[in-house]
Amino acid sequence: MYNPKSMKAEEFIDHGEVLRTLEYAEKNKNNRELIDKILDKARPIRDGKQVHCNGLSHKEASVLLASEDKTVLDKIYKLAEEIKEAFYGDRIVIFAPLYLSNYCVNGCVYCPYHAKNTHIPRKKLTQEEVKAEVIALQDMGHKRLAIESGEDPVNNPIEYILECIKTIYSIKHKNGAIRRVNVNIAATTVENYRKLKEAGIGTYILFQETYHKESYEKLHPTGPKHNYAYHTEAMDRAMEGGIDDVGLGVLFGLERYKYEFAALLMHAEHLEAVHGVGPHTISVPRVKKADDIDPNSFDNGIDDETFAKIVALTRISVPYTGIIISTRESEKVREKLLKLGVSQISGASRTSVGGYTEKERPKDTEQFDVSDQRTLDEVVRWLMAQGKIPSFCTACYREGRTGDRFMSLCKTGQIQNCCHPNALITLKEFLEDYAAEETKKIGEKLIEKEIMNVPNEKVREILKNNLNEIQNGKRDFRF
Ligand code: SAM
Repeated sequence: MYNPKSMKAEEFIDHGEVLRTLEYAEKNKNNRELIDKILDKARPIRDGKQVHCNGLSHKEASVLLASEDKTVLDKIYKLAEEIKEAFYGDRIVIFAPLYLSNYCVNGCVYCPYHAKNTHIPRKKLTQEEVKAEVIALQDMGHKRLAIESGEDPVNNPIEYILECIKTIYSIKHKNGAIRRVNVNIAATTVENYRKLKEAGIGTYILFQETYHKESYEKLHPTGPKHNYAYHTEAMDRAMEGGIDDVGLGVLFGLERYKYEFAALLMHAEHLEAVHGVGPHTISVPRVKKADDIDPNSFDNGIDDETFAKIVALTRISVPYTGIIISTRESEKVREKLLKLGVSQISGASRTSVGGYTEKERPKDTEQFDVSDQRTLDEVVRWLMAQGKIPSFCTACYREGRTGDRFMSLCKTGQIQNCCHPNALITLKEFLEDYAAEETKKIGEKLIEKEIMNVPNEKVREILKNNLNEIQNGKRDFRF
């Protein structure tokens, strides 16, 4: 029985409800009156300085996803752009993944780290190696990481993950610092989530892979990840353990995308209904080629057009949630998606254990092929050429603006007086410490222009002062 407030996976992601939603969407995909009503509901409402968005329910969003009308698609794209602009402006936050260990006891059939893969070298970073990787990442200019690890209670117990987090935060190399560590590790206990919270993590990220229980069990035939309910209920345990910001995701290609999209929104609705705050981020990875993995062996791959539509619909359905696109996607695809509501991207990623300290991109322990292989400097320059403001900001979580406090910042339109100057401050740090000459020139001009877009005069003055101080060698200012 469908119940968004239930704590049972099979009730808040009720299979029957997903099927009913898909049926309703199919029946109404040409119902222009209903479609116009749904598009109207998604539109941002402006009240003085404040902007508000209603978002869409899984049922409403599924109708738009089912529509094959080009004019409807154009309206969805336009709305996504408008909503992104209203809440996130032109800022794009940058991060990098850091692979700690590829030891894994699970049998995920799409992942080369699956336990039966005997020819992939298994590697786990020592603390010395973590330090070297972090220094390499700091030397590129990264400030925000997502740590990744396989699931292996013997080789990668929670104590190991906690030790790595401590090491990462402790390293201050030249002007570098990692100021936010997000964590993407397997579902765990409330107690372990509490420990992660105490270690000062940012977002806890866990991809659902697929919401379709029967497929889930087939795709995860062995290991602790086989347990659908334990995996699906992980975010509730994370929140019970005190983690405010959680990141959802579906691995597109495994199941039918319409099923996944409806269920993903049902998961977001469940978090909102139970915890009063929706997901902080949603990731939209697609299955990629990897060591012994052929993406074509999965039947549900989606083309770039459908993928873009999913991203745009996610933006208008959950307007206050960040959308993350990784380097699994090519420059061309990322360029298109930047306009449709993406708010965070990874840059210069290496998906192998110990990859950042290698001169050449190592292939042997890579989790998947990286499509976008540009350097961080190139990514920053490219973002600016797209009219975006690259941001290395980590201020919200360090100021305690997590969970519903972050959402209220978003909802009251204060972002322009807060996130915007923080983006400029952190971009300035990047330009001073890590950028190539040409990037620096373009960036300085951009900052000069963007200072004027800070609405509050007092904030603008403090920002100018901070930028001067950065020029003089000081670091780490924030609003
Ligand atoms: N091991 C952790 C878990 O089980 O949740 C998470 C870390 S894993 C390194 C991060 C994510 O990579 C997985 O959740 C999965 O969605 C994704 N992934 C695995 N194999 C992939 C592939 N071949 N192509 C693209 N993404 C993949």
